[in-house]
Amino acid sequence: MRATPTLLGVRIDLHTHSNASDGTDSPAGLVEHAAGAGLDVVALTDHDTTAGWDEAAAAARGAGIALVRGAEISTRSAGMSVHLLSYLHDPAHTGLAEELRRAREARMSRARRIVALLHGDFGLTWEEVEEHVEPGAVIGRPHIADALVTRGVVVDRNEAFADLLHHSSKYYVKHYAPEVLDAIMLVRDAGGVAVLAHPGADGRGRIVTDAVIGAMVASGLQGLEVDHRDHGPGQRERLRRLAEHHGLLVTGASDYHGTGKDNVIGENLTSPDVLDRLEGLGHLAVVR
Ligand code: AMP
Ligand code: ZN
Ligand code: FE
Ligand code: FE
Repeated sequence: MRATPTLLGVRIDLHTHSNASDGTDSPAGLVEHAAGAGLDVVALTDHDTTAGWDEAAAAARGAGIALVRGAEISTRSAGMSVHLLSYLHDPAHTGLAEELRRAREARMSRARRIVALLHGDFGLTWEEVEEHVEPGAVIGRPHIADALVTRGVVVDRNEAFADLLHHSSKYYVKHYAPEVLDAIMLVRDAGGVAVLAHPGADGRGRIVTDAVIGAMVASGLQGLEVDHRDHGPGQRERLRRLAEHHGLLVTGASDYHGTGKDNVIGENLTSPDVLDRLEGLGHLAVVR
């Protein structure tokens, strides 16, 4: 019988978002919330940015919680959107930093195109969306959802994602993102630990096959996020088996976004031995 992380008394959540991307807590507020919820370790993994790292690190030292600095990188595989978690990479690595910058710029022009389409039918303006984006934050559909809520078009982010902002909606626009195998190699070159985020989340459309995960492992993938709310028991079983087959780290996390999503911080956890191995593989240390 495997001991669960909670039985060992160390609570580790390796995937959360602040308002440096599409979460609603500031980086410091997120870290304080994590400490208040009884976590011992939290990872900040904003979409395509490390802008929240310094504020989160300062807050972590004050709150007595350890911080894993990470990012959730937008990538593509055969046209499909794939999220790649990078932990403890060197933020000064120019190749990786440049790819993230390119993805952020693409997200900005794509958001403007989505808003232009929504303007035609709902009158939504770019200024209304900007009201919901922290200066310098990485923009995403959740911010557009917030503006639709304020305008009274939908009641919450969930309703916006169910229809108007769904990837099959006529208002949906894709954005540039690097090929996942290239992104994995970049993360590794930057000293990061590459973990595939929610690989079995089929609510977002197609999911990557076992064969594609095999190709990712050949490119340097080191872990799979298995315990995530978007995975049912069948997917967790499949992913745990794949992780064992390839010798990958198995992580669990909440994907907390503050008040913008139902995910509760600490609702899924990663075991301490996995965190030890992850820290041993990464360029940066965990902030303690
Ligand atoms: P984007 O990054 O612009 O493609 O938007 C996708 C992001 O929206 C995901 O990373 C999630 O964090 C978030 N998201 C997806 N579905 C929902 C939902 N139902 N409610 C709130 N946020 C969501
Ligand atoms: Zn998000
Ligand atoms: Fe994601
Ligand atoms: Fe996420």
